[in-house]
Amino acid sequence: MNQRPIYLDNQATTPVDDRVLAAMLPYFTQHFGNSASINHMYGWEAEAAISQAREILAQAINASPSEIVFTSGATEANNLAIKGISEAYFSKGQHIITVQTEHNAVLDPCHYLQSLGFEITLLPVQPNGLIDLQELEKAIRPDTILVSIMAANNEIGVLQPLAEIGGICRQAGVIFHTDAAQAIGKIPLDVEEMKIDLLSMTAHKIYGPKGIGALYVRRKHPRVQLVPQLHGGGHERGMRSGTLYTPQIVGFAKAVEIGLAEQKSESQRLLTLRHKLWSKLQTIPGLQANGDLDRRLVGNLNFSIADVDGAALLLGLQPIVALSSGSACSSTKTSPSHVLLALGLSEKLAYASLRLGIGRFNTADEIDLVAEHIMATVSSLRQARVLEPNLQI
Ligand SMILES: *Cc1c(COP(=O)(O)O)cnc(C)c1O
Repeated sequence: MNQRPIYLDNQATTPVDDRVLAAMLPYFTQHFGNSASINHMYGWEAEAAISQAREILAQAINASPSEIVFTSGATEANNLAIKGISEAYFSKGQHIITVQTEHNAVLDPCHYLQSLGFEITLLPVQPNGLIDLQELEKAIRPDTILVSIMAANNEIGVLQPLAEIGGICRQAGVIFHTDAAQAIGKIPLDVEEMKIDLLSMTAHKIYGPKGIGALYVRRKHPRVQLVPQLHGGGHERGMRSGTLYTPQIVGFAKAVEIGLAEQKSESQRLLTLRHKLWSKLQTIPGLQANGDLDRRLVGNLNFSIADVDGAALLLGLQPIVALSSGSACSSTKTSPSHVLLALGLSEKLAYASLRLGIGRFNTADEIDLVAEHIMATVSSLRQARVLEPNLQI
């Protein structure tokens, strides 16, 4: 059998939907113009396509098109938001609040600012992965210029209470940024209702192409000031220079459009698959879910298995299923997930964790197969341990 493993790593990235690819293709070869070329039809075509995409993205979050700034993805959007605010509001203060379980694309810009003299408060999370709103209220100070809290966690899928956070920030007069890379197109987002001032998005987690994303920047009530991080031709109202990548932008908008159109039915389907998987796995002794099981992305499951060697488990699963472990690999070493540690898990349990991201192209048969394989692998690892009681794991 020479089959590729079942893909269950949809929180890392997703394949491009055929409908998205079809929408993109004409913009590589036929409508290839530069949207900044105002003197001919090639430029106008590109500009029209980008304008339409901007409209779709704005509508998806109840914003207006002029508030959308295209970027190369959520990493750049987060950097633009956090560094851009820190420079623009420097005279107001140098204190930023974020959360221990954020993506590195938020944590690392904050650490960078810390090295420049900013003060960063890293809020802890409760054992279910959600922040305590009172902790947030207590952390806000007169010199706080930004609160950055993600919409949906990329490892454990938990959904932070955006509307409540937005309410607290607005009341305190502090700008609220949310990294919505895992949320856009999957859960309802409304920048007015949730009082969000900056929102990062990316296309490749929702069946769009890699290398494209956007930052929503509120223009009124309040008007958010941002210092650009890329200087050049003055594109995107001066906030992000560089020729706009028309095919990617068209694909991004198509991906969001499909995500929204199918949100209800697809959420139901994914939830059914996740329940099926989770109920099958219940026979495994020592199984524990990581993160709140209700306030969560429907396709995400993250769990630990006590007394199992995480590395051996992953190795056993590799030929059958592509998933992530509860560890993050940097270039030189593997370390336990900072998200799982923040939930209070031991290092050992964090290593013995799996993240399963069920997506649009997964089927019920695949879920059955994966469940059976996980159960079989765990029990064979445990068997080996019983046979060789002195084995160090
Ligand atoms: C994937 C992801 C990012 C990074 O997005 P890119 O578009 O790959 O740069 C940032 N934040 C979260 C929560 C993510 O899941």
